[in-house]
Amino acid sequence: MDRYRKLSKYFKERYGTRVQRIPIFAGFTCPNRDGTKGKGGCIFCDATGSGFAAFRNLPIREQVLKWKEIYKRKYKNVKFFAYFQAFTNTYAPVDVLREKYSDALVDEEIIGLDISTRPDVLPEEVLDLLDEFRKKVEVHLELGLQTVNYKTLKILNRGHTLAEFIDAVVRAKRRNYVITTHIIVNLPWDDMEDVIETARIISALGIDGVKIHSLYVVKNTVLAKMYEEGRIKIGTLEDYINRVIMFLEHLSPDIIIHRLVADPPHEGTIFGNWGLSKTQIVNMIEKEMEKRDTWQGKKWKKLSISV
Ligand code: SF4
Repeated sequence: MDRYRKLSKYFKERYGTRVQRIPIFAGFTCPNRDGTKGKGGCIFCDATGSGFAAFRNLPIREQVLKWKEIYKRKYKNVKFFAYFQAFTNTYAPVDVLREKYSDALVDEEIIGLDISTRPDVLPEEVLDLLDEFRKKVEVHLELGLQTVNYKTLKILNRGHTLAEFIDAVVRAKRRNYVITTHIIVNLPWDDMEDVIETARIISALGIDGVKIHSLYVVKNTVLAKMYEEGRIKIGTLEDYINRVIMFLEHLSPDIIIHRLVADPPHEGTIFGNWGLSKTQIVNMIEKEMEKRDTWQGKKWKKLSISV
């Protein structure tokens, strides 16, 4: 029995086949880096804009074709979502966005667009544009949040508030968008209450998916400076596992878990995942859930917010 709702299973149930996301670098920047919202970006974000697209120097269409070739060699039956991952993928005039999103739809094997963005860069005209694309393919949204602790959001220099996140979710949900959000459960400024409240708010808002991350420290970031000067301490692996399990227990069982931990970047990492691989940590979390006989939603209480 799975103790949490796995993404791979959801894709199989929904599309009858394996679905692979193709990471695209579309040449966007971020209003939290260029001075519009803030300067320097989130304290953990490096110059890649938290994205790892391998073929970032190629045009979008070429990037998609390259990845398709790689995945089709690996998997027999596979369909694709074009994943606009790095930086803020709605941060441009609507005509520019239309062109970039269209470029990724190279053929009918691309069954969806996955657009990662900031909650404060999702105006109605962008949702109108995405509605156009929904006539052809599925469109999923990824909204960064990290924590519901609005004081920690300030320390992270996110440049948006909790209210702006809730506003974006409510507006996108009115149009029935599938929304995934990104959470870091071991932020040094958050305690277990923050982790639980994050799970409860995400559940109450009817968010569809969660990507759980551990905090990693990358060179040339404000976080790296804090870490090297001893101003912050990253908790132990044991604490991380505990927080992930607690988060899952308070999360609605309907929410799809995209990941329990992320890979740090290949280069420039000062601290990442306690020197372990993603698979090792996932195995440890799953084993611990077995041992405790617990599961996603075990402590979840349905709230009556409806959006
Ligand atoms: S919003 Fe994303 S791209 Fe912008 S600074 Fe933060 S992590 Fe980096």
